[in-house]
Amino acid sequence: MSGKSQTDYISEINRMKKEKNVIILAHYYQTSDIQDIADFVGDSLALSQKAAANDADIILFAGVKFMAETAKILSPEKKVLIPDLNAGCSLADSCKGPDFKKFIDEHPGRTIVTYVNTNTDIKTLSDIVCTSSNAVQIIESLPPEERIIFAPDRNLGNYILNKTGRDIVIWNGSCHVHEEFSLEAILRIKEEHSDAKIIVHPECELPVRMVADFIGSTSALLNFTKRDKSNSYIVATEPGIIHQMKRENPLKSFFPAPPKDSTCGCSECNFMKLITMEKIYQCLNTESPEISIDKDVIEMAKRPIIRMLEISEKLGL
Ligand code: SF4
Repeated sequence: MSGKSQTDYISEINRMKKEKNVIILAHYYQTSDIQDIADFVGDSLALSQKAAANDADIILFAGVKFMAETAKILSPEKKVLIPDLNAGCSLADSCKGPDFKKFIDEHPGRTIVTYVNTNTDIKTLSDIVCTSSNAVQIIESLPPEERIIFAPDRNLGNYILNKTGRDIVIWNGSCHVHEEFSLEAILRIKEEHSDAKIIVHPECELPVRMVADFIGSTSALLNFTKRDKSNSYIVATEPGIIHQMKRENPLKSFFPAPPKDSTCGCSECNFMKLITMEKIYQCLNTESPEISIDKDVIEMAKRPIIRMLEISEKLGL
């Protein structure tokens, strides 16, 4: 134990942020205290937009590794730090480079659209990247005759397929958190709180999506709770977002959708929760672990991400 209190960590982090010209970017699935010390909190699209344009010398990424890697790809001249290199992603890891290459060879002539939740080698194989905020619009921006491969999330892929009606083959990957929500438990909460709207992330399985009043990316769910007139919501995505929902809507109630196994707490992303205040402090203090990626790989991985950012900007997303 270092003997430091939470308050000590916060003041030390704030001091080092100024001294070292650091920007802390945090994902919505981080714990509330980390969201509160971040300079910017957002979903993958907003975070990559922020990573591409800021004046800091150092980016500290409070999120998972593929997000920090995306920041490094977009800002290679900056030092990009992540407090714990073990912060992986079950969805990204469900799509390995050699297997994906084989899949591409088996489906020739298709445009390769990948969700940002992939490891860097998958981005180098992609034509265009998307996030859950812009996936439908990115697919719709492609010429109608274009045939598509979508990877790695099968649930988001099916959601996009139904929305766009396009010719898409889908990689069979998934996120262990978003597949964990229990339809029965959601409906039980709904029975007790009949006015509550069910809001769902598109990475959830079809039965959960089918009972949704609204489906959208994490930021789309947050925005929905701001403009919608209801007073309560059952939230089927990682419960970290509820911190921002409560901040924006202090008079409304939010019920996290329960997992299938009520004893495991596995609707929380264990990878996201590896990041702690103490690790952020250590990481800023030692300026490690640092993300490093070969220049050539950065060049190859950057193209599909820049294409996404350009289309998003054109569409005002
Ligand atoms: S919630 Fe799922 S997709 Fe997001 S980082 Fe965790 S494992 Fe990956």
